[in-house]
Amino acid sequence: MSSPSHTSPSPLKELTLEAIVDLLREQGMRITGSRLQILRCMLVAERPLSLDEIQEQCCHQDVSPDHATVFRVMNLLEKLKIAQKVNLNRSCSYFELLDPKQHYDHIVCTECGRITLMIDSCPVEKYERTIAKQYGYSELRHSLEFYGICPDCTEDS
Ligand SMILES: [Zn+2]
Ligand SMILES: [Zn+2]
Repeated sequence: MSSPSHTSPSPLKELTLEAIVDLLREQGMRITGSRLQILRCMLVAERPLSLDEIQEQCCHQDVSPDHATVFRVMNLLEKLKIAQKVNLNRSCSYFELLDPKQHYDHIVCTECGRITLMIDSCPVEKYERTIAKQYGYSELRHSLEFYGICPDCTEDS
C-alpha cells in the first residue's frame, strides 16, 4: 500500500507542542525556555513567519531568543520535516509548521505580502493520483502559490 496522497511529510502524528518537544529531545536538543517560546509562537501563528518575525513575536515574552537561536531551531525543524520554508520569491524565507493533517496551498498578496493558507479547497488534489500514475511516481505531494491582491489591499485602493 502506498501512503495516502496529499499528506505532508511530517514524522508527527499530530502537531502538538508535546509531540514536537519529544522529537527534538530524541534528536538531542536541549529544550530551553527560549526554544519552547519559538515553538509556541510557531504553533499559534496563523501564517508563515520570517525569522525576524518569529524573534519579534517572542520578544513580548519574558524569555526572548536571539536571532541565532531562532535560526538554529527553525532549520532543525525544517530538517526534521516539522516545518517548511515558504519561499514566495522573496529575499527572506518564511517558515510554517507542518501539520500532518493539513495541506498547504497559499495565496500571496502582491501588495502587502500577506500569505493566506487555503483550507479545504485544494484545486489539484484529484489530479495527484493521475499524475502519479502517468509518471510512475509514488507519494506525490505539492504546494501551490497563487498571487493576487488581498481584501484589505483591494479596499484601500
Ligand atoms: Zn494585501
Ligand atoms: Zn493542494
